[in-house]
Amino acid sequence: MVEMKSTQIGNQKIRSKQLLENIKILRDFIFRLLHKAKPIYLLLIFAISIGISGWTVESNFIRIPIIGFHDIVDTRNPAEMPPRRLAFPIDYTKQNFSVFLEYLIKENYWLLSSQDLYVYFIDKSQPIPAQYLGKKLIIISFDDGYKGVHKNALPILEKLSVTYKQKGKFVVFVNPHFLGVDMGRDFLPHTTCNDLRDGYQKGFYDVQSHGFTHKNLTKVSGKELEFEIAKSKSELRKCMGDLDKNKVIGAHIAYPYGASDREVEELLPKYHLTGFLYDDNLFRVNRLKNNYRISRITVDKNMSPRALISIAKKASTLRKKGWF
Ligand SMILES: [Zn+2]
Repeated sequence: MVEMKSTQIGNQKIRSKQLLENIKILRDFIFRLLHKAKPIYLLLIFAISIGISGWTVESNFIRIPIIGFHDIVDTRNPAEMPPRRLAFPIDYTKQNFSVFLEYLIKENYWLLSSQDLYVYFIDKSQPIPAQYLGKKLIIISFDDGYKGVHKNALPILEKLSVTYKQKGKFVVFVNPHFLGVDMGRDFLPHTTCNDLRDGYQKGFYDVQSHGFTHKNLTKVSGKELEFEIAKSKSELRKCMGDLDKNKVIGAHIAYPYGASDREVEELLPKYHLTGFLYDDNLFRVNRLKNNYRISRITVDKNMSPRALISIAKKASTLRKKGWF
């Protein structure tokens, strides 16, 4: 009995010795492999492992450029150029915009609405429809509700959608107080409620809030702050409500001057699902910690279509599970 025990202990000792040997051999092998392998092979192994695990893993790294325009001006129309109209640094020309937009439509970009962004990428409450797989992701937004967007940008999207048989959305962040306001030279004309309805019914406009009167929300508080937020949403719904069965109009906000703070953010969940900044950062889904701090990139007239295209190229492509 004692002998048997001592034999068993001896066998166990041999086995654990063998195990240690094996671990040592494996460790040396991995060490040699890591030492010899060039970084490129390691990167390849990493890429393959991401590919195998499908786009659910890749979705954590999804990058969506959110581009913010203001007015769009036609350089061939003297009424839209100085001295008849003041020039602003945040204007963008119809001619350059057209080059950029054609690139996006031709290169298979999905021009998301703010609700698409929320439902498919932030809240993830719905699966992404299969028709979007293979597309690149981008948001094209316009602040302040200027007439030039309706007059100069929308027709380009309409035309391209026929040529390339692709539909896309413009997110228009509007101040309802200025709808239809056109006071002449120093004040840019604004779109009307009917313009918004027209673009929406054609399937191109996603109509969202930019505050009621474009006040800096961080400089007002209490009732005044709530009025700016609440009235904007209710007026947009008054204008569009009968067309908006899913109550998506005014569900999102872009802050005037890109300015928000804690008091604003505490009030927002009562009225909005997401809030858009102006911080010139590329929006990365996995880095979002606060739905009311979505990054946007501001455009000014000095940015060439090529510069915009290079930003757009940073966008992720939606991949099918099992592919990379
Ligand atoms: Zn604005």
